Amino acid sequence: ERKQLNRLRREPSRTLDGVDIKLYANAESREDVAEAHAQGAAGVGLYRTEFLFLQRAELPDEDEQFRAYRDVVLGMTGRTVTIRTLDLGADKADRTGLALRDEPNPALGLRGVRLSLARDGLLETQLRALLRASGYGPLRILLPMISSREEVREVRTKLDSVARDLRHEGHEIATHVPLGAMIEVPAAAIALSGFIGAVDFLSVGTNDLVQYLLAADRNNDALGDLYTPLHPAVLRLLRDVIRLANARGKPIAVCGEMAGDPMFAPLLLALGLNEFSLHPATLLEVRRKIRACDLAALKARAPALLRARDRAAILQWMDDCG
Ligand code: PEP
Ligand code: MG
Repeated sequence: ERKQLNRLRREPSRTLDGVDIKLYANAESREDVAEAHAQGAAGVGLYRTEFLFLQRAELPDEDEQFRAYRDVVLGMTGRTVTIRTLDLGADKADRTGLALRDEPNPALGLRGVRLSLARDGLLETQLRALLRASGYGPLRILLPMISSREEVREVRTKLDSVARDLRHEGHEIATHVPLGAMIEVPAAAIALSGFIGAVDFLSVGTNDLVQYLLAADRNNDALGDLYTPLHPAVLRLLRDVIRLANARGKPIAVCGEMAGDPMFAPLLLALGLNEFSLHPATLLEVRRKIRACDLAALKARAPALLRARDRAAILQWMDDCG
């Protein structure tokens, strides 16, 4: 079984009817990057940089960050690497003093890009390190917790200015470093048409998007089935976001846990998704599932999926199409 699965390492993630789907890896350590490479990931779709900042009292300086990001780029030997700027907040065990303590509602508080923009120099240092790493291979920058066009523009302005400084200082950086937004705040998903022109690519964080859309804490076991992507509102919003991105020619992936569960692959394909980003541990299982899917047939059944009125109907669709 495992042996058969391992044979898929060098096979394409191609549907029965011949469409290639990109499977990127989620990673947060050297080990993850090595595993992603070995499993034949198309690149890294989400590199979480929080680990560099946790379990320590002092902030990593520009050089330390640069070396860490450069190593991710080098580890993927020319495949695209997507590094997310710091997604820290009061929900994470932070000893650097960056995040607020004891926020009444950390999930709704000063986290992600909000925190990066609120702390002097924090974002600039990370952007400098990222741009320097872009001299070593294809790198994209991904922003967490974007809720408005203003935030994207503020970061873009900083990115341009940091790039000018670095060139002036003689650093070799890529001529174009794509800037993308996580779609994980419902407002960003709903207002996407207003700022999609300001980003180069998108990544849907279904872990948080589901939490915020359904007002259901992603870490609260007491909620049982309430926290689930199997809700008509989630499917419709995913469909809208994917359709808009596809129409505008902007690459879009789903990088939440949902993308790593082979059970959801037919559903995401039916909604028009061409790119997944998932933990390397389940990459081959998702690839196997995709290779057993007929994309045209799934797309023909998308209207039925979007007509599903409740969880049972969605599960029934998955049963019929899985
Ligand atoms: C998400 O929210 O779906 C996501 C990928 O980010 P994280 O799990 O790090 O919040
Ligand atoms: Mg998130």
